[in-house]
Amino acid sequence: MIPCTDEHILYKMHHADAIWFFLDYDGTLAEFAPTPEEIIPDQALIELIQRLASQPDIRVTIISGRRLAHIQALLPIPDILKAGTYGIELQKMDGETVHQIEYGDIRPLLDELNDRWRQLLKGHNGFFLEDKGWTLAIHGKDATEKEANEILQRARQQANSLMEQAPGDLFRLQGGHRFLECGPRSADKKSTVEHILSTYPWHKNALLVYLGDDDKDEVAFEAIQEHRGVVVAVGNRLRHHTADCWLPSPQAVRLWLLAVIESRA
Ligand SMILES: [Mg+2]
Repeated sequence: MIPCTDEHILYKMHHADAIWFFLDYDGTLAEFAPTPEEIIPDQALIELIQRLASQPDIRVTIISGRRLAHIQALLPIPDILKAGTYGIELQKMDGETVHQIEYGDIRPLLDELNDRWRQLLKGHNGFFLEDKGWTLAIHGKDATEKEANEILQRARQQANSLMEQAPGDLFRLQGGHRFLECGPRSADKKSTVEHILSTYPWHKNALLVYLGDDDKDEVAFEAIQEHRGVVVAVGNRLRHHTADCWLPSPQAVRLWLLAVIESRA
């Protein structure tokens, strides 16, 4: 995959009438926090995103698996769209918050699952149960590979049996590296990108540019490429994906965004 500092990519960024960025947070704009509960705002990043968003021909949307309240605390910047929990919770440019589904519809199952998963994880120290409100996730990053496989397999079975009993087809499981998450089906970045593009239309010639680092972003890449946008894979997890270009780290992302701003000044 070519680096995003390639002259063809930079040429495209420089000459676009307008650019609409969709930016993932963890692993893309910032290094991963020690635990997903941690909120450590980064002043340099806040200033960069502020500067990016203040360009007249640039629009910024943050699209994260974190809950919206985290994103608001990490990036206290007005005038950008913020999509939390993969887009279930959305803060519009005018500051108003909208939800794609009813909270009360999803909590009974998640509360029940929370009890079961908490029991399952008892005595297994390498795991972290995260209740994001709209979704429930197990992170096993400090577990051994074998233990992670076993526990996540059982967690998956428990979730499936609850989901089978639940009315409608509201929920889905989302896996990842030592990771499992149960949440509403509409909580995915692809449907969120499509929802945002159709609900909050902007400059019709805007070049859509998506930066993300993992499989939760990968699903949204398609939506961007359908609009002839630019997909940027960050880090090593999507190294072999057919993104348009690649940046090695959040630090490289920041330098690249700065270069884009400066080339358009
Ligand atoms: Mg990420």
